[in-house]
Amino acid sequence: MGRLLAVVLGAAAGGGFPQWNCGCPACRLAWAHDPRVKPRTQASIAISTDARAWVLLNASPDLREQIAANPVLQPLSERRDSPITAVVLTGAEIDQIAGLLHLRERQPFSIFATTAVLGALDANPIFSVLARGVVAREPIPIGESFFAAPGLAVEFFAVPGKQPLYLEGDDPELAIETDVNVGVEICADELRLAYCPGAAAMTPALRQRLADADVVLFDGTLFTDDEMIRCGVGKKAGRRMGHMPIDGPDGTLAALSDIRARRILVHINNTNPILIAGSPERQKVEAAGWEIAEDGLRIEL
Ligand SMILES: [Zn+2]
Repeated sequence: MGRLLAVVLGAAAGGGFPQWNCGCPACRLAWAHDPRVKPRTQASIAISTDARAWVLLNASPDLREQIAANPVLQPLSERRDSPITAVVLTGAEIDQIAGLLHLRERQPFSIFATTAVLGALDANPIFSVLARGVVAREPIPIGESFFAAPGLAVEFFAVPGKQPLYLEGDDPELAIETDVNVGVEICADELRLAYCPGAAAMTPALRQRLADADVVLFDGTLFTDDEMIRCGVGKKAGRRMGHMPIDGPDGTLAALSDIRARRILVHINNTNPILIAGSPERQKVEAAGWEIAEDGLRIEL
C-alpha cells in the first residue's frame, strides 16, 4: 500500500492574510498579532509519496517564504538542486502562477497544466525566464490521468469558474466550465486527494468527484457571497469572483454535508470570519465537520 503526503504551504486566498492594503476586521486582528488569528500565505499545496520528491499544486507569490518555512522543500545536496520536481497548475491567477518566477536559476522541473493555463504563461514573456529546454511545459487535457512524479497520478477535472482577473473583459462569463480553472485529483494507489481552490458553483459531477476522495481541500474563499461588500473592501460578490460561499442554501457546507472525505477549507480570503478563532462562523464550519487549513498543516494518508 502506498502513501500520500500533503503539506499546506499556504492557506490564504490571493493577497494573503493579512493583505498588504487591508484593514478589514480580520486583517486588523492579524496586523495587531491578536492570538485569535494566524497569518497565512497564499494558497499552495505540496504533495509527495516518499517525502523526498515533491510536487507543488500551484506556485504562489509567497513560494520563497514557503520553501523557507518547510525544510522538506529545501536543497538536499551541497550543489544546486531541489526536491521540487514538478508544479501542477489549476489556473492562471496571479496567486497560482507568480511563484514560478521564484523557481528560475536553470533548475529542471516540469510544469503540468491545461492548454489554456499554459497559454497564459506563453503569452507573458516574463515566464520565459524558465528556459524551455530546462523547464518543460506539459499540456494536459481535462480528464486525462498523468504521472506528475513516480507513483503520483494526477487528473484535472472540470470546475465552474472564470477567467483570471487580468484576462477578464468587461462582461466576463461566470460559473462556466473551461480549462482555465480546474480542480485536481491526486492518486497514489487507492488513496485520493482532491484540491479545488476555486469553485463558483457545485455540479453533480464535481460533487461525485469530491465524494470519491479520501481528503478534499476545497474553496473556502468567502463565508457569505456579499462578504467583501459588507466589509466595505470591495464591490464584487463572491460568485462574481468565481467563488461559491461557504454558508447559505447554495453554499459549500450544504452541498458537501454528507460526503465521507476528510474536508478542509483552503484558499481563505482575508475578510472571511472563519479565520478568527471562536467566531460564530468558525464554530458553524467546525460543527459541520470541516477543518480550516493553516500554513504548515500536514496531511498523511
Ligand atoms: Zn482584510
